[in-house]
Amino acid sequence: MTANEYVKSRFGRYMDECTNEEIYTALLEYVKEQAKGKESNQGKKKLYYISAEFLIGKLLSNNLINLGLYEEVSQELEKCGKSLAEIEEIELEPSLGNGGLGRLAACFLDSIATLGLNGDGVGLNYHLGLFRQVFENNLQKEEPNPWITPQSWLTKTDKTYKIHFGGFAVQSRMYDIDVAGYDNRTTKLHLFDVESVDESLVQDGIYFDKSQYAKNLTLFLYPDDSDESGRLLRVYQQYFMVSNAARLILDECAQKGSNMYDLADYAVIQINDTHPTMVIPELIRLLMERGLVMDEAIEVVSKTCAYTNHTILAEALEKWPMHFMQQAVPHLVPIIYELNNKVNKKFNDPSVAIINGDNCVCMAHIDIHYGISVNGVAALHTDILKDTELHNFYKLYPEKFNNKTNGITFRRWLLYCNPQLTSLIEELIGPGFKKDAMELEKLADFVNDDAVLEKLLAIKEARKIVLRDFLKHTQNIDINADSVFDIQVKRLHEYKRQQMNTLYVIHKYFEIRAGKKPQRPITVFFGAKAAPAYTIAKDIIHLILCLSEIINNDPQVSPYLKVVMVENYNVTLAEKLIPACDISEQISLASKEASGTSNMKFMLNGAVTLGTKDGANVEIAELVGEDNIFTFGEESQTVIDRYARADYVSREYYENDEDIKKAVDFIVSDEMKAVGCAENLERLYNELLNKDWFMTFPDFRDYVKTRDEALAAYEDRKAWAKMMLVNISKAGFFSADRTIEQYNDEIWKLEK
Ligand SMILES: *Cc1c(COP(=O)(O)O)cnc(C)c1O
Repeated sequence: MTANEYVKSRFGRYMDECTNEEIYTALLEYVKEQAKGKESNQGKKKLYYISAEFLIGKLLSNNLINLGLYEEVSQELEKCGKSLAEIEEIELEPSLGNGGLGRLAACFLDSIATLGLNGDGVGLNYHLGLFRQVFENNLQKEEPNPWITPQSWLTKTDKTYKIHFGGFAVQSRMYDIDVAGYDNRTTKLHLFDVESVDESLVQDGIYFDKSQYAKNLTLFLYPDDSDESGRLLRVYQQYFMVSNAARLILDECAQKGSNMYDLADYAVIQINDTHPTMVIPELIRLLMERGLVMDEAIEVVSKTCAYTNHTILAEALEKWPMHFMQQAVPHLVPIIYELNNKVNKKFNDPSVAIINGDNCVCMAHIDIHYGISVNGVAALHTDILKDTELHNFYKLYPEKFNNKTNGITFRRWLLYCNPQLTSLIEELIGPGFKKDAMELEKLADFVNDDAVLEKLLAIKEARKIVLRDFLKHTQNIDINADSVFDIQVKRLHEYKRQQMNTLYVIHKYFEIRAGKKPQRPITVFFGAKAAPAYTIAKDIIHLILCLSEIINNDPQVSPYLKVVMVENYNVTLAEKLIPACDISEQISLASKEASGTSNMKFMLNGAVTLGTKDGANVEIAELVGEDNIFTFGEESQTVIDRYARADYVSREYYENDEDIKKAVDFIVSDEMKAVGCAENLERLYNELLNKDWFMTFPDFRDYVKTRDEALAAYEDRKAWAKMMLVNISKAGFFSADRTIEQYNDEIWKLEK
């Protein structure tokens, strides 16, 4: 049955007589049916990828592509004067993730399905997801972001469990989303929910009663954890997630014939960051309920779990006070004590203990002692884990440590989001790259082919126009498509250094006012949400929005420089921004960005990276060569040493560098205060002057110089097009298919 026939059978009318809503509903059901027809791998051993976040993005087009229906459906829609793009507008983006970590989990599911591996994702069905960001008076405001509509990708299952907490219990229910692999099998994303969740608990903005657990467990992703009640709620959420996951795993393994002692032959669990860590004590507890004694249960579980570390920022390594555990999950407490005792008996080293001197449970330590593998997410990051952050653990378990450089799914980040570039590549090297991304290397043959370089530039121009029209249509923003598009989009965090980018813009603003005009207009794009309780991050957003207003209203400068902060940055916006980008800003303080994945999406779409030697930027630089990337700033070891010496004084840079002083002073100028809020601007100014914890000033000179070099290089259009082509041709390594092959070969060991 074709899509149009399906529409007819569903509504009694063909597409041309249906509303867009009806077509969307019918296509959603059509895709669900088609996915059902695909086999999943039924191998004995199965991977459970547990993650608090799955930033999956809209699914309609991606599923159509992966099921091989995209061409057919687009053509049928075109025949009746409609486009898939307008049907897609009806779909709401599920907001089940914050940023890179959640997007990684989504890319991994796509690759697991595409490679035909037996593996499912397990997470939570947050009703209001991550907040929706709106700007008011140049400030971020948070609103609930409901995404579950009567027609959604969720399928209600009949799987329910009774989950016990200290003092009460809730009934859970599992919902499934089918994940269609590209031209292959499907897997499932299992999202657990509470039957008793109550959206009416939410009042003004995103505020709600944090103590009514039965009603709020799956309302929001990561509720504001700046206060004790928010942090405690996270423990409840995490336990709810892993208790459901553990029961599902044991049920499925028992069904396949496991006697529980041989669990590791049936299941392997990947713990995505520390959020799912309690799956370890919970599995031990459930195995004891099934008749194993504690030592046996510990031994069994220790063979099934693997841990991925995503950050070296100390504040992100979760440590839960013991009294939280006592309140939320008292039945896990004796198990955690026993896990701690065993470690202390064996090693007698407080730095590797599970319960620390403050009586907090160090979640990562559980994962490392009682798991089979610890991996970092880029080569540099894994080295830092081994040499510095987790060095004491590395000495105990060198064999557990390994690197898995992150990747992205090329189906979404090339085939879907950039069909124009996809066609050109296919014309040049055939379709093989769609399944084997390393074939992109064949593009290197065309690096001196002027006609190809011209086409590449023409595609970039066309994508800038697509972005311009999209932003006009959706956010009423006007941009000049003939300008250089310089883009930094990612969560707002001081270590990612949007503030340094902003200082550059202020610096440029002064230059233009002094008569030094750039050769071509520049548009600087930002897109970023700040955590609701992260004050300085919100101040940085405020600074960007104020600066944007000032520059827009300055007739002397605005023809040459524009600052655009897109509202509510999410996957849908990323899919439009990334293909249009010329310069990809990847400027985190060296050593602080574990990997980054937007850096990979940008290079794949022919942007040139302006970046520090951090995370996967290091591997990008090695692949494309120093001539095809702009790197700057201090090396990670220099930064690590400087932190160790604790001798960085930002004020010295401020006092000794006229440009830094001028840019920083502008933050609290009368001009700024006229459009902004003095309190916020002064707070940020003081933060930079007295702390600058992520060291923007030491890198500032080099950043300005290198960024100006990149802008100058852009003017040699042919040379720039060559750089674009080299970047695309070397992006194959960053396919998530490669990453997942490595996880499977070295950790999971599933049958194909
Ligand atoms: C890829 C992606 C990220 C991760 O970006 P980084 O620059 O690697 O931090 C965050 N958010 C969205 C919507 C993404 O698509």
